[in-house]
Amino acid sequence: MQKLSIRDLDVSGKKVLLRVDFNVPMNKDGTIADDARIRATIPTIQYLLRHSNGLILMSHLGRPDGVANPKYTLAPVRKRLEELLKVPVHFSPEIIGPAVEKQAASLKKGEILLLENVRFHPAEEDPDKDPAFAKALAKLADVYVNDAFGTAHRAHSSTATIAAYFPQKSAAGLLMEKEIGALSTLLENPERPFYVVMGGAKISSKIGVIQNLLRRVDRLFLGGGMAYPFLKAKGLEVGDSLMEEGALEIAQDVLRSSQDKLWLPVDLVIADGFSETAQKKVIDVAEGIPKGWQGMDIGPKTIELWTKALAKAATVFWNGPLGVYEMAPFIHGTESIAKALAKTKAKVVVGGGDSAAAVAKLKLEDAFYHISMGGGATLEYLEHGHLPGIDCLTDV
Ligand code: AMP
Repeated sequence: MQKLSIRDLDVSGKKVLLRVDFNVPMNKDGTIADDARIRATIPTIQYLLRHSNGLILMSHLGRPDGVANPKYTLAPVRKRLEELLKVPVHFSPEIIGPAVEKQAASLKKGEILLLENVRFHPAEEDPDKDPAFAKALAKLADVYVNDAFGTAHRAHSSTATIAAYFPQKSAAGLLMEKEIGALSTLLENPERPFYVVMGGAKISSKIGVIQNLLRRVDRLFLGGGMAYPFLKAKGLEVGDSLMEEGALEIAQDVLRSSQDKLWLPVDLVIADGFSETAQKKVIDVAEGIPKGWQGMDIGPKTIELWTKALAKAATVFWNGPLGVYEMAPFIHGTESIAKALAKTKAKVVVGGGDSAAAVAKLKLEDAFYHISMGGGATLEYLEHGHLPGIDCLTDV
């Protein structure tokens, strides 16, 4: 379903309320560790600053659980935003109420106001608790725009229910449009062969998307911690490898219906402890992992086999590291596959979270067709094909 874009909405002379995802990782000293999410939404902000009569930004940061907490203030984001935009950014410590309404109404063309963390209010995450919250937010502007793809899987006050107060005037921002465009291609008409590479630890959080994608892809390469339940389900010894509760049953189920689409590692880097200094060695999966040892990365034969196969892909979706990439001795699999993907001619979409962090760590950002800003949102979109933060926007 097509949604209204800010490019098709007349915002001249109007106040615009823009939901962004400024939920950036923070350092212990209160500075921003990675501003990628802020930078990703700058084109939308600049577009609206040029065309509207004043822009009001709202976002959450962390999990303050409905109470004001200075640890989660958006003040550092305001500072970074001023540096990026090179214009002053007004700030309102209040999210709703007469004072902020007055401040919003007095904004002039080209001016910008950032509200304090919307999750300081208990009704942000639980709109039913106080429906008046979304209504009070809506009083701040004439038009609503959602650019917070990373939070679009949440049906919260500022991401979803608020749109009801802007009939025919709830639009997708440029980042939101880009995300939906790239991800819907994967679901609707990917150029083939379409391959998926999945890694990471938590199979329980990815099983829905694995099952949906298995129906659509030509091949699914499965590595990382979630490969071990599959190897065990095939009767192999996995030693002390990661084994999430219930994962074995999930793996058995997937294996029954995956035909021959599922590729598992053929060799592994194993270690005698979950640490950088543990003793390590390479084994073929058929040998089995001895007791006291655990799988930490995919092995060299797997890398070679997968690299060759991935070179033939036309479309690829990659989510999740293929080993414990935070530890230098076990980054090789993730690094090699990232480099292989960067080299293919395929359209490669990288799912957010750890895989996006790995791409950034390897400075390969420019080599990919799209790096999604969403972690959970990306996976839920690929599982269900829609999200509450998108569904609420005006249809065209
Ligand atoms: P997820 O949040 O499910 O994408 O998992 C990401 C995490 O998976 C990263 O922190 C990796 O260190 C971890 N991971 C990848 N491979 C393994 C493995 N073989 N054993 C344990 N953890 C792993």
